[in-house]
Amino acid sequence: MRTRVFLVPAAAVVAGLVLTAGGCSRESAWPARPGPKVVVSFAPLYCFAANVAGDDAVVKNLMTTAGPHEFNPTDVEARLVGEADLFFVNGLELDTALASSLKKGSGNGRLKVVELGKLIPEDKLIEGACHHDHDHDGPHEHGHDPHVWLSPDLAEVMVNGIRDELKAADPAHAAGYDRRAAEYVARLRGLKAEGAKQLTGKEDKRLVTFHESLGYFAKAFDLKVSGVVQKKPGVEPNAAELAELVNLCRKKNIRLIAVEPQYTANTSAKTVLGELTRAGVKDAQLVEVDPLETVHPSGLTPDWYERKMRANLEALAGAMK
Ligand SMILES: [Zn+2]
Repeated sequence: MRTRVFLVPAAAVVAGLVLTAGGCSRESAWPARPGPKVVVSFAPLYCFAANVAGDDAVVKNLMTTAGPHEFNPTDVEARLVGEADLFFVNGLELDTALASSLKKGSGNGRLKVVELGKLIPEDKLIEGACHHDHDHDGPHEHGHDPHVWLSPDLAEVMVNGIRDELKAADPAHAAGYDRRAAEYVARLRGLKAEGAKQLTGKEDKRLVTFHESLGYFAKAFDLKVSGVVQKKPGVEPNAAELAELVNLCRKKNIRLIAVEPQYTANTSAKTVLGELTRAGVKDAQLVEVDPLETVHPSGLTPDWYERKMRANLEALAGAMK
C-alpha cells in the first residue's frame, strides 16, 4: 500500500480543510434522521453495513472511483467523518492510515474506528506481498494480504463485526440488527454455494490475476492463482517481469488472465495474452474479474457486492474448462 507516500499530505489536507470550513456555519453532511451515523471506507463495506443497518442507522461510503490503493480524501469525506459515530474500515494496512488521518483531521474525538479485518482469525489470513515504497535492506514486516472481502466466508466475519458494533451503539434496535445480519449471512452462504456449484467439474482452475487481489477469493472457491500481472497495484510490469510471467504461463500451460474493469486499456494483460497465443497456449484468454475496490457512485446499492461477486463467478465459470 502507499501509506508512506500519502499519509502526511492527506492528514495536512484534511486538517486544512476542516480549519477552513470551521469558521462558517454549514449544513450537516448527514440526513436529519435518528440512529447511528456510519461511514465506511469503500464499497464492499458499504454493502455489508447497509444490509445490517436497514432503516435503523445511516450508512455513507467514502471511496468510489478511486479505490483504497489510490484514494485521497477531500473536504466531502472530512465533513462526513466529522459527524459520524462509527467508521468501518477494512484494516490490514489497506485503509488504516486513511482512517486515522481522517479521524485526526476531522477533530471528531468520539468517532469509533473499527478495523473489520482484525476480527478475522490469524490462521485465515494470507501473508501479504511487499508493496511498500522502500528499499529491501534489512528485515521488515510484510503484514497480511488485505483483500479479505473477496471471500464470502470472511465477509461473514466482517458482517457479524458490524452487527456487534451497531448493537453496542444502538441497543434499542439490537433485535433488528441481529435479524438483518443473519439474513445477509444466509445470502452470503447461498452466494458461495452457488459459485462452488458453477465451478464444479472444472479441471483447470488456474489463473493469473491482474493485481494481487484474489488470494482469499481463490481460497474460498478452490481456484489457483499462478501469477500476477501488476506486482504493485497501479504500476505496470516492466519488460523483464512480463517475460517472466509469459514464461511461467507457457511452461505450465496457464490460459486465463484476470483483468479488472477499471483498467480498460489492459496493455500489459493484452501483451501477455498475445505472447501466450503466439507461444501456442491453447485458448488463452482474458477474463474480467472485479476486485470490488472501486464503484461508480450511481451503481452502489446494498446488493452491489452480491451482484459483482456473482458476475465474477459467472465469468470465471464460463472461461474455465
Ligand atoms: Zn487491491
